[in-house]
Amino acid sequence: MRASKQLIPTLKETPQDAAIVSHQLMLRAGLIRQLASGLYTWLPMGLKVLKKVENVVREEMDRAGALETLMPSAQPAELWQESGRWEQFGPELLRFQDRHARDFCLGPTHEEVITDIARNEIKSYKQLPMNLYQIQQKFRDERRPRFGIMRSREFLMKDAYSFNRDADCLADSYQVMYDAYVRVFDRLGLRYRAVDADSGSIGGSRSQEFHVLADSGEDAIAVSTVSQYAANIEAAEALPRESERPAPGAAMTRKPTPNTKTIDALVQGFDVAIEKTLKTLIVEGAEDGTLVALVVRGDHSLNEVKAEKLPEVASPLRMADDAQVRSVIGAGFGSLGPVNMPLLTLVDRSAALVSDFCAGANVEGEHYFDINWGRDLPEPEVRDLREVVAGDPSPDGQGTLEITRGIEVGHIFQLGTKYSEAMNCNMLDQNGKAKPMHMGCYGIGVSRVVAAAIEQNHDARGILWPAAIAPYQVCIVPIGGKKDPAVNDTAEALYQSLKDQGVEVLLDDRDMGPGPRFADMDLLGIPHRVVISSKGLAAGQLEYKHRSNPDSEMLDEASIMDRLG
Ligand code: ATP
Ligand code: MG
Ligand code: MG
Ligand code: MG
Repeated sequence: MRASKQLIPTLKETPQDAAIVSHQLMLRAGLIRQLASGLYTWLPMGLKVLKKVENVVREEMDRAGALETLMPSAQPAELWQESGRWEQFGPELLRFQDRHARDFCLGPTHEEVITDIARNEIKSYKQLPMNLYQIQQKFRDERRPRFGIMRSREFLMKDAYSFNRDADCLADSYQVMYDAYVRVFDRLGLRYRAVDADSGSIGGSRSQEFHVLADSGEDAIAVSTVSQYAANIEAAEALPRESERPAPGAAMTRKPTPNTKTIDALVQGFDVAIEKTLKTLIVEGAEDGTLVALVVRGDHSLNEVKAEKLPEVASPLRMADDAQVRSVIGAGFGSLGPVNMPLLTLVDRSAALVSDFCAGANVEGEHYFDINWGRDLPEPEVRDLREVVAGDPSPDGQGTLEITRGIEVGHIFQLGTKYSEAMNCNMLDQNGKAKPMHMGCYGIGVSRVVAAAIEQNHDARGILWPAAIAPYQVCIVPIGGKKDPAVNDTAEALYQSLKDQGVEVLLDDRDMGPGPRFADMDLLGIPHRVVISSKGLAAGQLEYKHRSNPDSEMLDEASIMDRLG
């Protein structure tokens, strides 16, 4: 490609509203442009990168035996009513009506649609396991879209769904996907970590997140210094303490509903957590002599609410009367909505307050619901949740914990029969009996990966793409071509020769001085740069530089070809 024919709208200044490096560099390099809050256009150079990520993901899904499909973004409400999520999902679900006043939503994820396909098209256990995936735009009306395409409202996700005969078959399919994810993130050249997203203490389903390690990551993860143990902070904090841990294989017993005293103790415990981790928020209040505690274990979004609201919230609430609690619920949670509360726990309900809360938050008071994957959660245990800090012993008895930060780029999940039971997604088993299929779901934030790669690979001059996702592998910058036709001739010949060999090459033939062209190529992060000048040609040499290397070398063409590999 000739740079004069490519769209390269680079910016010199760092855009004011971009808070993190990847967002700044994606705007400056002209990879994306904002259309509206959380909505972005991928410009040609950016799209080349996105497509590369997409293709790596597609190749590894295909290699793992998954079958590609493509489902609509618009989904009819009926399916969501069947699964129960029409009621349960909060404002993150964008709902609309068609001209016949029928309800629809824009898919934030596709369990309902794929389950509908499976129940209609898969008949027998003999066809299972089967894994169906797509790479498709998702829409989530995020409360606070930010950081460019890192947390946007429309984004590209690879979502795969496995259908299995039984729990063992599901565990196998899950492992196949885990292995595929490892290959994807290895090939993308990223430093990452798979972490437990479930406390693992309460039987059943398994869930892991893949995090690209970066200081700017929104999530905290706890990693053992010596063992393989790694968990997101919520899972690490929810692990029972040594003394409470059940024997392997034993079910976790729930403690009884707390009385006033235990709630008080709980709140005491949480005061510390509120101040230190900003992770957990408790509201308590008295009404008709009953104590109410709303325990909200939130994600990063709560941090902001905390920062904005908590100073007023925390202390008066100790002695809060009904009105105060209501006002806090109104101010703190009503505005927040449920979508940023992956785990909402209502302890010892006081009907009026809880229904107020639920009206604002659009969730059912009795229901424990994981908004991300639509998984029913076990009823809450009341226990002394603790803040996990660096230096804590690890939960598996080996080494101590380090806390690092990560960007969630993938999430794999054993769903079990939640959707298949709700939606009658059955197969005929060996005995000809109808049984619900066991499902797993597996997401990768394809567009988020692009931003995560930049967070990990950049310097003061711009992006340093891992080779697998660079928009071009080589750029050729001829200088002084107007005066010396040999420069342009050599550049053209090299350009043609590289193209013929299938190398992705950008010939920077733009009518600009060398400085701005070098700056653009650095900003764009093209791995290999070849500069052609009269002076070099006189010595039979070209200047070669790798983007990650500060120094250039004068080489003959054959040696340059070697460098390009
Ligand atoms: P997060 O915790 O960041 O909100 P999530 O847990 O809600 O993500 P999942 O439902 O697990 O997301 O979706 C699968 C993947 O989709 C995530 O691992 C992430 O990489 C990506 N993703 C989710 N929300 C967004 C978003 N708003 N913008 C870009 N990518 C996203
Ligand atoms: Mg989310
Ligand atoms: Mg998440
Ligand atoms: Mg997730």
